[in-house]
Amino acid sequence: MPPPEDGKQSADLLDLICDLIEQPSRRIGAGFQLGNGAEAERLAKLGLVRPGSAPKTIACRACDEDHPATPKFDSVTGRHFHFCPVAGRVDIEPRDLETLEVHARAIVDLLVAAFPVLPAIGRELVSEKAWHLGEAIVGGTSLTLIFARQIGSQRTFGDLARAVATVPATEIGMILTSSPLPDPQLMLPNRYTIVGLRDIASIEGSCVEINRSRLAAHIRMLRGKRQRLRAVGGRPSNESLVVDAYDRRRQRDEPFVSTAAEARAIVSDLTKAHPDRMPPGVSTVRKHLSKLRSSGS
Ligand SMILES: [Zn+2]
Repeated sequence: MPPPEDGKQSADLLDLICDLIEQPSRRIGAGFQLGNGAEAERLAKLGLVRPGSAPKTIACRACDEDHPATPKFDSVTGRHFHFCPVAGRVDIEPRDLETLEVHARAIVDLLVAAFPVLPAIGRELVSEKAWHLGEAIVGGTSLTLIFARQIGSQRTFGDLARAVATVPATEIGMILTSSPLPDPQLMLPNRYTIVGLRDIASIEGSCVEINRSRLAAHIRMLRGKRQRLRAVGGRPSNESLVVDAYDRRRQRDEPFVSTAAEARAIVSDLTKAHPDRMPPGVSTVRKHLSKLRSSGS
């Protein structure tokens, strides 16, 4: 029986999971410490690691390089070995032949169950990197939730930005990630915000548990930011009017055809909604729109 978990151990396990799903290779290499046996067992139970296929390369213990190799078996010593161009014959530790693979998709199912997300969508948005989980209500606020991993590179971040442009957010669009948080200045389409998974979740038994008070704090902070944006100067700024009009059009499922067409439609919407004020010009709206939708890459 594993010892009872306290909060710290759970946080550590989530840290380990984030590190695992951030590592570039699916195969868990000999260099990656899975921790003690109990942790590896819990990861398997969570569906995050699975037995892998036989290794096509061997992490050489003599020279620290990976060699493409087929392990050979020596019936005299009862051990496997391979040939290293530097060191010659090198014995293989039996545990190096046991491979495990990371199954990152498992975190999607764990998160869907944890919120819960209803109905669960779980659609892949960026191959092996980002998934639309669906909607969840947290403290009366409707969240559109996405999980993304390995978003540290400009390229992946750009892919993510293009993908979330196709997923309108309900009240708040939130991308949970195992990656280190990108520069907060980077804007995402549909005003998605990025929240670190480590910041709002932990592992309890064989489930992910959402820390609701921390999540609520994130939601309050976002709401506060938007209200401040709207409150500038006593009456709403052109920018916040454009942002609101843009959001309302997404809520009505109006397609985003092009920045130019969207800007013309927003000017027309604002003329009708605020007959008392001069609507912003199309070029001003375009400027706000490109800021709103810029991917930062
Ligand atoms: Zn070698």
